[in-house]
Amino acid sequence: MKFDARGLSQQTNEMLKALTEAGQLLHEAYLYQYAPEGIAIRDSLGRQDGDLSNKLLRLVERNGGPYDKMDDFTNFVNNNPKPPGSGFYPADLTKEEFEGYLARYMHRSKALMSPYTVVRRDNGGLKAIPFHEEYARYVVPAAELLKKASRLTDNVSFKKFLELRAEALLTDDYTESHLAWLEVVDSDIDLLMAPDEVYDDGLMGLKASYEVSVMLKDSAASAKVDFFGSYLNELEMNLPIDEKYKRPSAILKSPMYVVNDIFRGGDIATGYQAVATTLPNDPIVRNTKGTKIIFWKNMMVARVEKIILPIAYELISSDQIGFVTTQGVFSNTIMHELCHSVGPIYVHGTGETISVNEALKEHYTTIEEAKADAAGLHSMRYFIRKGILGKEMEQIHAVSALASIFRTIRFSTTEAHAKASLCALNYLRNANAIRFDQNTKRWSVIFDRFGPAVADLAGELLLLEATGDFEGTEKFLNRWSVMSVDVEQSLRRLNHVPVDIEPVYDVKWK
Ligand SMILES: [Zn+2]
Repeated sequence: MKFDARGLSQQTNEMLKALTEAGQLLHEAYLYQYAPEGIAIRDSLGRQDGDLSNKLLRLVERNGGPYDKMDDFTNFVNNNPKPPGSGFYPADLTKEEFEGYLARYMHRSKALMSPYTVVRRDNGGLKAIPFHEEYARYVVPAAELLKKASRLTDNVSFKKFLELRAEALLTDDYTESHLAWLEVVDSDIDLLMAPDEVYDDGLMGLKASYEVSVMLKDSAASAKVDFFGSYLNELEMNLPIDEKYKRPSAILKSPMYVVNDIFRGGDIATGYQAVATTLPNDPIVRNTKGTKIIFWKNMMVARVEKIILPIAYELISSDQIGFVTTQGVFSNTIMHELCHSVGPIYVHGTGETISVNEALKEHYTTIEEAKADAAGLHSMRYFIRKGILGKEMEQIHAVSALASIFRTIRFSTTEAHAKASLCALNYLRNANAIRFDQNTKRWSVIFDRFGPAVADLAGELLLLEATGDFEGTEKFLNRWSVMSVDVEQSLRRLNHVPVDIEPVYDVKWK
C-alpha cells in the first residue's frame, strides 16, 4: 500500500503525520481492549530472535493478540481460550451473572451497558470505568495530536470535526463529533478514529472497539458511486417486509466515499481487513442525520485480484466463472453497505426506546450482516428493474456474491460476517437458488430462483430485527449456520488461495 505524500504541501504532510501518530496510540489502546494479555506476549517475542519467534510476532501483530481471528480465535501461543468479552469485562464474567447484576442494580445499568466503558469487579460487585480513564495513557496524547492536526488544516468543516473528536476522545461523548464528521465537506482527507464497532464484544455485543483509518479521497471514483445513496428512501420502501415496519418519513442521507488509506489501526487493522464500512453506529445520529459510507479501494482491488477470482476458478461452475468480476464484487459491497442504512433501527412498538442491537444482543451483528447482504442483493434487482443498472448485471451480482460467500466463510464459523454468509449459503441452497454439482464439485446459481429466494431471506431477517425477536433469531441461526460436508470439502480445495490480505503501508513523506 504505497503512498507518495511528497506532492502534498508541507502543512498537509505534518497533518497526516499527526493523524497517523494519533492512530498508532489508539491502536495500542485497542490491543488493551481486545487482548490485554497479548501485549506482554508481543513485547517478549519482540525481544527474541529467531525464525519461529519472528513468525509468531507477525501472527500476534496481524491478529491484535494471540488468537487467530480467522480460525475461530484459536490461541496459537498457549492454550488459554479467548474470553468472549475480550478485555472489556472480567475474563470470568458470564452473561448470566452480568444480566443478573444489571437486573438487581438498575441504576448502574446505563454505565455498565455503555459502549464506551469497561466492566471491572469491585468489592464483590461490578463497576464501569469510562474508556477515557481506562486508556488515558493513549487517549490523552492522541487527542493532543488531533488538536495539532486541526490547526494544520484549512478546511473549516474538517477542522471543526477534529476539534470535536479530540474532545470526544477525552469525554467518551461522541455524538457531536459524529454529527460534525457527517458535515465534513470538500476535504480530500478524512479520518476514522473512534470506538465504533462492537464485534469484539462476544459476551454482550455492547462494547465498541477503537478503529482508525487515515484516508485520502478518490474524488472521481466517489462521484460514480455516490448517486446510489440518493435512492435510500426508495430502497427502504422496496424492502420485502410489512409496510408498518418501514421508515417512510426518515430523512436519510448516506454519501459514499471511495478512499485509499495510508494507515489503519485498531479492530480494522487486525484479522479480517475491511473494504467498506457504514458509520457512525450511534442510533441517535443515524436516525436524525444518516450515515457516511466508506469504501477502501486499495483493499477492494487487492481482495478481488488475490482472493475472490482464485476462489471462483476453483469452485464456481465453469460456465458461470465469467460472471465473477471486480465490478460485481464492488457493486455488491456498495449495496451491502447501503443496506446497513435501511431497515429497522428500533424494535417496532417500543416507541424508539429499544434498539434492535439491544434486543438481539450477541446475535445482532450476525443478523445485521446477513440482512445487509440479503437486502443488498434484493435492492440490486430494484435498480435493474428500474433500468438504472443493465440487465446483464443480474447474473454478475449473483455469481460474484456466491464467490464472495466462500471467501467470507473461510474465516471462521463464529465471526459475524462469516456466520451471516454461511446462513445465506445454506438458506439459498435449500431454496434451490444455489446448486452444488456432486460430479464436478462446483457451485452455480439458478438464476430464476435467486431473486425470490433472496427476497424471502431478506424478509425473514428484517422481521427478526423489526420485532426484536431474540428466540426467533437463535432458532434461525441454529438452523442455517451449520457447516455441511459439501461446504467443508469445497473450503478444503481453497488451501492454496490466501485467506486475506495483509496491508503493508509504505508512505513517502516530504
Ligand atoms: Zn456489513
